[in-house]
Amino acid sequence: DKHRHSGIVEDCCCNYETVDHVNGEVLHPLLQELVKTPFFRYFKVRLWCDCPFWPDDGMCLLRDCSVCECPESEFPDSFKPNHRILPSDDLKCQEGKPQSAVDRTIDSKVFRGWTETDNPWTYDDETDNSEMTYVNLQLNPERYTGYSGSSARRIWDAVYSENCPKYPAEELCQEEKILYKLISGLHSSISVHIASDYLLDEATNLWGHNLEILYDRVLQYPNRVENLYFTFLFVLRAVTKAAEYLEQAEYDTGNPIDDLTTQSLMKQLLYNPKLQAACPLPFDEAKLWKGQRGPELKLKIQAQFKNISAVMDCVGCEKCRLWGKLQVSGLGTALKILFSVNGEENLVQTVRFIDPQLQMQRNEVIALMNLLNRLSESCKGYGHRLLRH
Ligand code: FAD
Repeated sequence: DKHRHSGIVEDCCCNYETVDHVNGEVLHPLLQELVKTPFFRYFKVRLWCDCPFWPDDGMCLLRDCSVCECPESEFPDSFKPNHRILPSDDLKCQEGKPQSAVDRTIDSKVFRGWTETDNPWTYDDETDNSEMTYVNLQLNPERYTGYSGSSARRIWDAVYSENCPKYPAEELCQEEKILYKLISGLHSSISVHIASDYLLDEATNLWGHNLEILYDRVLQYPNRVENLYFTFLFVLRAVTKAAEYLEQAEYDTGNPIDDLTTQSLMKQLLYNPKLQAACPLPFDEAKLWKGQRGPELKLKIQAQFKNISAVMDCVGCEKCRLWGKLQVSGLGTALKILFSVNGEENLVQTVRFIDPQLQMQRNEVIALMNLLNRLSESCKGYGHRLLRH
């Protein structure tokens, strides 16, 4: 079709070669460093499985499924409960009243401390409680776990049923198709990671690439590869759109050297001249949610995405649940960045500028950048070059 011939990722503004090039040269190396920093390697998560849909869900018994949680002494002090987090009420009283509104053309400080403001796109309640634990993502890589069968299938079916994929693509309006493409792109990325780090021989504990799985699940379906690129560009756009906020954010872990490294890596990513030259607008969110149906459609898709986020509690393998929750939270954060606008009355207007009231939780930013890294890894090596063979 026309998009495949022209090489432009559908609904995006860059072609596949450019994405591969920029990813290989700039994004992938920077992201690989970034996710190793102490700030980005600890993710707060409630791993307790209390699935609201299927209470009988059995847990996976494979050793490779279980997650190693961090003892309190390991993760940064600044991550511990009640450490300099602005209560959301505080923000409301500053921002909710028109008389206290700040003129942002003068005050360019967009980051005002990490908040606990709930994300309307996701189901998780992120406030600290005793069920939350910190997980060192570096010690829990996303890889083959053996999770499969009816439990895994049930989750994917539930996720896709939120998107009405049974309709032929042309019948879905652009906005509805986007949710499907995001999920399909994430699914491709998960499959690529399973295939890239596969238990080839249980007896000798040999891990490696499984090209058959890679081909069977992803490469033989050009749409799945396209959706992977689409999701990558979508999340990349969210990150660059929030550049000012993310640049000012505090990457504080108590170790000034580490924190400077994190800050510097973020800056190199957010204001990268090579990226800006090659792909200045990876995805154009201003084209969406227009017209009379806009506000209604946005709320509908928000509710659908929230359900997808809730389904992640039903993933019956701890490590898959960890990465499922992280990546869905990252997508929810990207959706929040791209589609939060200042006030309902602006819903039908162009949303290319970021909502000045947008605030993020630390954990959302950790999820966002780790998701971008996972997508970048999936595109690298397995992407467009293989698609052409
Ligand atoms: P599945 O991947 O289960 O796919 C089910 C069906 O969905 C396919 O038959 C196809 O019709 C459709 N489909 C597949 N890919 C796409 C796509 N990209 N776009 C559109 N439709 C598609 N397993 C691990 O080993 N490690 C993990 O870390 C892991 N994480 C997971 C996280 C989540 C949230 C879930 C739900 C599952 C996870 N799994 C993980 C399980 C893994 O995704 C598969 O379900 C499992 O390996 C069985 O694969 P399958 O071949 O039956 O197809």
